Amino acid sequence: MTGAIVGLSKEAAPDGVIAEICIIGSGSGGATAARLLAEAGHEVVVLEEGRDLVGTERTQRDAPMYDQLYMDRGGRASHDLSVSVLQGRVLGGGGVINTCDVVPIPDGVLQHWAAKYGLEDYAPERFKPFTEDALADLSASRIPENLVNFANAKLRQGAEALGLRGEVMLHNRVGCRGLGTCLIGCPIHAKQNPRMVALPKAVEAGARIFTRARAVKVHKASQELKEVEVRTLDPGGYHEQNEIKVRAKIVIIAANAISSPQLLLRSGIGNAHVGQNLMLQPQLPIIGIFDERIAAFDGIPQSYAVTEFEQEDNVEFGLWGFRIEGIMGTPGIVSSLLPFSGASGMEGMAQYDRMAPSLLLAPDAPSGRVEVARDGRLTIRYTQRDDHRARLRKAVESAAKVYLEAGAREVLVPTVAALVIRSAREATQARQLPFAPATAPMLSAHQQGTVRFAASERDGGADLNGQVYGTRDVYVFDSSGFPSSASSHTMTPIIASSRMLTTKLLTRI
Ligand SMILES: Cc1cc2nc3c(=O)[nH]c(=O)nc-3n(C[C@H](O)[C@H](O)[C@H](O)COP(=O)(O)OP(=O)(O)OC[C@H]3O[C@@H](n4cnc5c(N)ncnc54)[C@H](O)[C@@H]3O)c2cc1C
Ligand code: SF4
Repeated sequence: MTGAIVGLSKEAAPDGVIAEICIIGSGSGGATAARLLAEAGHEVVVLEEGRDLVGTERTQRDAPMYDQLYMDRGGRASHDLSVSVLQGRVLGGGGVINTCDVVPIPDGVLQHWAAKYGLEDYAPERFKPFTEDALADLSASRIPENLVNFANAKLRQGAEALGLRGEVMLHNRVGCRGLGTCLIGCPIHAKQNPRMVALPKAVEAGARIFTRARAVKVHKASQELKEVEVRTLDPGGYHEQNEIKVRAKIVIIAANAISSPQLLLRSGIGNAHVGQNLMLQPQLPIIGIFDERIAAFDGIPQSYAVTEFEQEDNVEFGLWGFRIEGIMGTPGIVSSLLPFSGASGMEGMAQYDRMAPSLLLAPDAPSGRVEVARDGRLTIRYTQRDDHRARLRKAVESAAKVYLEAGAREVLVPTVAALVIRSAREATQARQLPFAPATAPMLSAHQQGTVRFAASERDGGADLNGQVYGTRDVYVFDSSGFPSSASSHTMTPIIASSRMLTTKLLTRI
């Protein structure tokens, strides 16, 4: 069969598509499965609601890139607007807009999943080959020293002066020129993401990929031949156009841990666990402001992490602690995260070239759910737990001390009201941060847990093969299945997990 990427906003929709396997979502989970299944000779169709946006179409401009690369144009949020929920919506998914941090699932988490949840395939020794293959897919390597920019070097300087453990991170870039706009797409395709690796290989092996193709419902989920109801979208992705049907024996949903349960709930598929156990892993930005020019926008935004406070062996959750990672955003992103407006907003942004920001990443325990109303409207209900707030307070205090040690004039915690820390003694004020809902710019990039894998229908939404309970060959191959937080990052865990689940599927078909 001849593979192709077909944009359904421009090309006529085929009249009734039939395939052996239909994969919904072209990100880390879906693209990996598509490639392995197509290479094994199976007939694969991939449905992706985003468009294929490559090369110079990635204009490095905030507004059009948010519009075309992010779900809900970057405006998706939890029910009370406390957490901004970031997801990719483009061929290749979140890997196109992420910051390329490669972090495999720590062994402590894998052991936890095997021991507490019975996910034996994830036991460290059994899962190791899949992680190794994922690292190869990503061309993972340590970021070269000359690409650690001045902002990340400041974080490192402060951490080393305080004797804290840290590392220059692994990444999946090849030929990066440090243009700095990773969060709105890499115009020179340095990222070795699903768009550049798994999808071209899937097409080469015969997979057909339809873009601007939104799966709205899966019908006949317990019958041999499933029917996926699809709406094609206009070129901008604003409006639904035509309806087509894709029929397939096997349906793999890998639309992301928010959109996968959304589709299942909209289709009326699955048990009471579907949509539950949501982890958003809210991350908080914090900014060291220096008197000297930092130019954090120049070079790789995220290249150094303070790993001193990470722990892997929490008995209840598997992974705990927190991590401090250098980061930078484009002016649009940074201005939207500052707790100022009007003249004070302008004053704040006037310091843009003297900012060294970090993200504080603390894995969370399940404390939310995905809901779909009768009219199809999505609600992401999430309540931050007190223990997560407590760890973020510690993270703020630690990160502030690191920046001050590196010579920052002050450290801005962009809460409402803003907290400005000017000395190590003042850093203890972080202990009083209330983190009341919607008073801090919490960002979620690592959604997980909403169709939990479990050996029994009593404990989860899908079985140990990823098959959704109550269905025949309808699977979930993304981080929806993770029973607790995989780690600080999810791309490598999802690719490795999808590789493992697809390898198992291949033994049965
Ligand atoms: C801004 C940002 C930065 C990040 N940084 C990192 C990082 O540095 N390192 C890391 O490891 N992880 C990072 N992540 C997380 C990581 O990128 C994601 O966890 C990962 O890409 C998710 O893969 P996925 O296959 O589950 O879903 P996605 O990659 O989100 O792919 C799902 C695809 O499904 C499509 N889709 C959704 N619903 C439908 C439907 N109904 N019909 C058809 N198509 C549909 C979407 O358009 C999307 O393209 C980041 C994420 C974001 C958003
Ligand atoms: S830093 Fe620039 S060149 Fe490197 S991956 Fe990011 S966007 Fe591409």
